Amino acid sequence: MSASAGTRGSDEYTMARERMVRILRDDFGVSDERVLAAMGSVPRHLFVPDAFRFQAYRNNALPISGKQTISQPLIVARMTELLEIGERSKILEIGTGTGYQTAILAELGDKIYSIERVPELASAAERRLAGYRNITVKAGDGTKGWEAYSPYDRILVTAGSPVAPEPLLAQLAEGGILVIPIGDEKGKQDLLRIRKTEKGLERESFGACTFVPLIGDHGWNE
Ligand code: SAM
Repeated sequence: MSASAGTRGSDEYTMARERMVRILRDDFGVSDERVLAAMGSVPRHLFVPDAFRFQAYRNNALPISGKQTISQPLIVARMTELLEIGERSKILEIGTGTGYQTAILAELGDKIYSIERVPELASAAERRLAGYRNITVKAGDGTKGWEAYSPYDRILVTAGSPVAPEPLLAQLAEGGILVIPIGDEKGKQDLLRIRKTEKGLERESFGACTFVPLIGDHGWNE
């Protein structure tokens, strides 16, 4: 994974990527064309370990270092759709992982701030994302948010939490959206979209999902 992912153009995986986008649209009902275009342009094969490159455009989660996973393309597309990102959105992402989802967010929004708990993953993602000028990555406990750049129009949590962390709700702008998997077991969650309105928080559920645990002060204990 040496190449930086912020460079465009066709490559030996272009057809596989186009096929992945067709499957997301036709078989799984992903309908936001901006999200599909982003999924069609980010080279996922540069984010997965070399040994799994040939599987990069299948609809699978794949193992990455630090006992973590890169989420399956369908869940990346669904969560991105749920965020309703606009061109001017300032977005906080918790759980950078490989940086693949971060790159998708950067295709759609204005500024992306991303926090990863595992320092080696954060620095590898930062290198991989060097071609993107609108992404800032740091290592740390994302359950505390990133106060310096708050408030955020959108917040995405890509690990499963027992609750919506209070600092993230506090750092969400009014009118903002938080998408987060929440569940009372470590490996089983419900995908929630929480809108912050002037009347309070509105929650919608989008069904069962499975993420690695969000570990931190306002998430699970290690
Ligand atoms: N979206 C990522 C990608 O495209 O590669 C995959 C994210 S992976 C499913 C979840 C990530 O959340 C892991 O890399 C894990 O280390 C990270 N994580 C867990 N707890 C965290 C925390 N408190 N703060 C920041 N990252 C955390």
